[in-house]
Amino acid sequence: MATALATFPLRLVDGRRLERRFRDVLLPGGILCDHAGQARVLPRYFYEVESWEQARDTYLAPHFSVSEFVHTDVREAPPLRLFPRYIPCATVLLAMALELFRDAVGNYVYIGANGGYCSPRHAGVGGASPHCWGTAANIYRVGDTYLDSQDSIVRYAEIARAVMPTVWTRPLGPELAKTDDHLHLDLGYVVSTPREAAGETYNLKLAGDPL
Ligand SMILES: [Zn+2]
Repeated sequence: MATALATFPLRLVDGRRLERRFRDVLLPGGILCDHAGQARVLPRYFYEVESWEQARDTYLAPHFSVSEFVHTDVREAPPLRLFPRYIPCATVLLAMALELFRDAVGNYVYIGANGGYCSPRHAGVGGASPHCWGTAANIYRVGDTYLDSQDSIVRYAEIARAVMPTVWTRPLGPELAKTDDHLHLDLGYVVSTPREAAGETYNLKLAGDPL
């Protein structure tokens, strides 16, 4: 039986071809340094989200709509507080990973405000946070359980690692760079380049140099 394939509604954009006000805050293909001083290359390709309605109605995985990854407040850079908004293409991979997690916990999984994609110019971002890659989520609640105690955070971090063996979860603690009121999990600095994206510039000199 032939069935029509649903087409993904979000437009793929090359961040380097966006208007300057967006390029200045998304830094497509730019570099951020992590806490160890290692340079990390930022995403270049994004999906464009036209409206809140589109964010709410577009699903990246069966239980995760775009809207869950774009809840930001005044700490986000001004051009990104209005629509159109942009999410790195790898956000789709995070949604798929969270779907596995949701299956394992058998309940609703809630991502906090500023707990999905944050631009490199988000005031809460210090250095190369995987939130800028769209590959990190701050989960503050699973079903009726708030992740604000050591017990609940550790329990759900263990479940996350059981279904996603390479996932990284933030250590527990009150200090900066630790967590005591949510579970941060991320897939690392994953950059996704969809098939329909433009190719890279082929630089023969770089290709011949040992890196
Ligand atoms: Zn986080």
